[in-house]
Amino acid sequence: MTQAEVTAVPSAPTAPFGTVAAPAMVVVTTEGGEFGTPTLQPTDVLPLHPFAHALHYGSACFEGLKAHRGIDGAVRLFRSGDHAQRLVASAARMMLPIPPPDLVYSMIMMAVRANLSAVPAAPGSLYIRPVLIGTEANIGAAAAPSTEAMLYVVASPVGDYFTSGARPLRVLIETTHPRTTPQFGRVKAGANYAMALQPTLAARRDRAADQVLFAPGGDVQETGASNFLLLDDQRVVTKGLDDTFLHGITRDSVLVLAHDAGLVVEERTIDVDELSSWAAEGEAALTGTAAVIAGVGTFIVGDDEIAVRAVNDPSARGMGPVARALRESLIRIQTGADADPYGWTELVDKDL
Ligand SMILES: *Cc1c(COP(=O)(O)O)cnc(C)c1O
Repeated sequence: MTQAEVTAVPSAPTAPFGTVAAPAMVVVTTEGGEFGTPTLQPTDVLPLHPFAHALHYGSACFEGLKAHRGIDGAVRLFRSGDHAQRLVASAARMMLPIPPPDLVYSMIMMAVRANLSAVPAAPGSLYIRPVLIGTEANIGAAAAPSTEAMLYVVASPVGDYFTSGARPLRVLIETTHPRTTPQFGRVKAGANYAMALQPTLAARRDRAADQVLFAPGGDVQETGASNFLLLDDQRVVTKGLDDTFLHGITRDSVLVLAHDAGLVVEERTIDVDELSSWAAEGEAALTGTAAVIAGVGTFIVGDDEIAVRAVNDPSARGMGPVARALRESLIRIQTGADADPYGWTELVDKDL
């Protein structure tokens, strides 16, 4: 690497997450339901018929993953094949034309290569957003899937999620409503986010909550956009995989690291009643690609507020020690500071 390239690396942006567009995007459309050849384009408005199926009947899903720049200057994608597979699974559930996983993967790779100079230094990263939408121009297709689709990959340089320092989150426990319907639990669809918004905004307004943790009938699922973990120095506990929630890749990575660090991983039902006893001794955290791991400092249950002691300890700086250690291990693998025995990372070279 030349000195010019080293000095050209942008520092981590301070703009809010997701507001800065990287210059290039990759786009492909179907014809007769078959995906064609993707093209590289400037990130700009998309041609979309106002009758497009996604705009009327919600046939849209997406992914979110990151490319990280290491201290060696090299850029590494994290678990891109797994994200591509999950988009394909979402497409199948939404009855969209299903892109071949290799196509999704190669478009992610194209998008990172084209935006390589926009990948900021750590703790920043390039957030990559593949999106699949139904484009059939037919507002009569209410009870029919979209026969055509557009797949595009945009990217956004992002800073550290905790711009103003990690702060323990206040999480309201919602025991009436599920996060989403079971048909959509495992689908990464915008509709799920819209569904979580009303309760989340109400919780923010009424209880100064940051997030809502959905636990219908007392069965803890996840928040609007992240998976939920209980941790202590012996164990990590999280809900076992089922159709009611999104199977996070960060969740999976953290469980693998926890197991390999000698912690017992329990994938099982968590009852709301368990949260208060856990809060006295253990930690709680949320996981997702954007923040990696964030500490939960307070459970708001009905009129009560339950402090998670280990997370509120001032020396904890926003998350418990077990969550912090797992977060740091994961980031060290993502940035190439530690070896990657799992095959999660992949170097992105410059050759187009
Ligand atoms: C994307 C997402 C997550 C986190 O998944 P990661 O693969 O870890 O980023 C969790 N819950 C929901 C609802 C999501 O959409």
